[in-house]
Amino acid sequence: MLNYANSVQKLIEELAKLPGIGPKTAQRLAFYILKGTKEDAYKLAQAIIKAKEKITYCSVCCNLTDVNTCHICNNSNRDRSIICVVEDSRDVAALERTKDFKGLYHVLHGYISPMEGIGPEQLKIKELLERLQKEEVKEIVIATNSSVEGEATALYLAKLIKPLGIKVTRIAQGIPAGGDIEYADEVTLSRAFLGRIEM
Ligand SMILES: [Zn+2]
Repeated sequence: MLNYANSVQKLIEELAKLPGIGPKTAQRLAFYILKGTKEDAYKLAQAIIKAKEKITYCSVCCNLTDVNTCHICNNSNRDRSIICVVEDSRDVAALERTKDFKGLYHVLHGYISPMEGIGPEQLKIKELLERLQKEEVKEIVIATNSSVEGEATALYLAKLIKPLGIKVTRIAQGIPAGGDIEYADEVTLSRAFLGRIEM
């Protein structure tokens, strides 16, 4: 595609694999990196390698962490009787920004989607059920996205958890249909959380 030295070409190709980065942006980023200092380039490369090597799943909530138990699960001020179930670690970050929720989380790492060949066994559902057996949980708030897959995942979980005698709620108003939690503003998310309804 382009007449660059092999190493530059390789850098552009790797950058272009990132989501939302087209060939033009990849070129721009590659040249930005090449124009910068050696030290900056090294820092960027190190940050990628370190994050990849150190990041693991929290042994309790499956959120991404670089310690065995994440800072939320480790916080003794959090209400351990309520667990908010989300699709992604980015949703935890979004909900934490609202400062409304004082309970714990459980990160599924995806949603159920027969179309994409993603079944419940590929998500962290088994880990959630194990948690419910060990801990005294009073309420599960399901905060999956309001997409078709998010709704299907919520229904699946409610069916599984309600027979255990645990209250299951779903965040409600405010999130637009098909909307992603990650992109919702704090006020909308706050309202959705406070207006949760029992499933
Ligand atoms: Zn955790």
